[in-house]
Amino acid sequence: MKILVINAGSSSLKYQLIDMETEQLMAKGLCERIGIDGHLKHSPLVGGKPVFDEDISLPTHSEAIAAVIDKLTSPEYGVVASMKEIDAVGHRVVHGGEKFACSVLINDEVMAALEECTPFAPLHNPANITGINACKAVMGDVPMVAVFDTAFHQTMPGKAFMYAIPYDYYKNDGVRRYGFHGTSHRYVSSRCAELMGKPIEELKIISCHMGNGSSIAAINGGKCVDTSMGFTPLVGLPMGTRCGDLDNGVVQFLMNKYGYSIDEMLNILNKKSGVLGISGVSSDFRDLDKAAAEGNERAALALDMFHYWVAKVAGSYVAAMNGVDAIVFTAGVGENSKETRAAICEYFGYLGVKVDEAANSKRGEDVMISTPDSPVKVFVIPTNEELVIARDTRDIVG
Ligand code: AMP
Repeated sequence: MKILVINAGSSSLKYQLIDMETEQLMAKGLCERIGIDGHLKHSPLVGGKPVFDEDISLPTHSEAIAAVIDKLTSPEYGVVASMKEIDAVGHRVVHGGEKFACSVLINDEVMAALEECTPFAPLHNPANITGINACKAVMGDVPMVAVFDTAFHQTMPGKAFMYAIPYDYYKNDGVRRYGFHGTSHRYVSSRCAELMGKPIEELKIISCHMGNGSSIAAINGGKCVDTSMGFTPLVGLPMGTRCGDLDNGVVQFLMNKYGYSIDEMLNILNKKSGVLGISGVSSDFRDLDKAAAEGNERAALALDMFHYWVAKVAGSYVAAMNGVDAIVFTAGVGENSKETRAAICEYFGYLGVKVDEAANSKRGEDVMISTPDSPVKVFVIPTNEELVIARDTRDIVG
């Protein structure tokens, strides 16, 4: 069974074709600047075919999907003989609200429910829906599955997902903590249990997804019991450009003082804050590491804040779960920055965590970076959201 995994954004579309017999990645690529002009980078990963990397006209997502299928099946760049070899499509969908606690086969009813979830993710869900419709238009009735970023967090109890605002805003309007990066937290926590050789039902795991966007999840017995992102991905840790937790009074104060509209204010909190806002240097942790090493105090402060917040939120989850067996680092920063991991682990002395420096220097593989005598194990596990989407699609369609 071959599954196409699609992650559609408003002007971009990432894809992977995975052979589920071996879970081997056959091809991957990215359509960019959809609706503007268009660019496709397609990388075949089997058969020794060349990479295609050119500007092409992509007026809508339908042309983008058509271009992807064309490249996947072309004699020069292709990895399959025809579209018929693609058995199913798995779509990443950002928000499934309270309706979707697991992945689902897409039908008309599901499409209507996705539309209902759109107010919760007004930037992301419409793009995901456009991607699904484009696939339908180009690929006909090939079965398609929706896999939600929010679904894994639906096991959170009320005490973790409720906001202390009038209850009617939850009951009537669905205002609550939903959490994001669920597919990543699910993948790394289950992989962590495999690496520990224990059933996930017996483990308390704290999963730290640290990329451009960052979130932490508390996973008790395989079920998410709390997570740091909320109604939107804006809260929790300070991120690349997002502010993380912030007193709402600051919003009113700044809007009054500078006459910002709510859109201008949210643009500042989403795009100009986080480690970029603190450092004034960059949202990229590589740039911050370099600047801090050169003596830039604001870059050093931004990094210090990030480490502190990860440790603080993770510590609150140790309390919430009454213990922890393993802590996992994943995503761009978590997988690549040994300095960040080491700095965060400094805070975990109270848990008896000791970092094995040689293990912490490894890259690109699943690795335990705590010493064997650490009572709490620490892992780096490269995330693989596409594989989770492909597995769910196989399980539902198969
Ligand atoms: P992601 O959102 O998971 O793709 O992560 C992207 C982020 O990972 C980038 O913005 C960088 O800040 C960070 N990153 C990637 N490579 C490294 C590295 N070698 N050291 C530190 N940070 C890195």
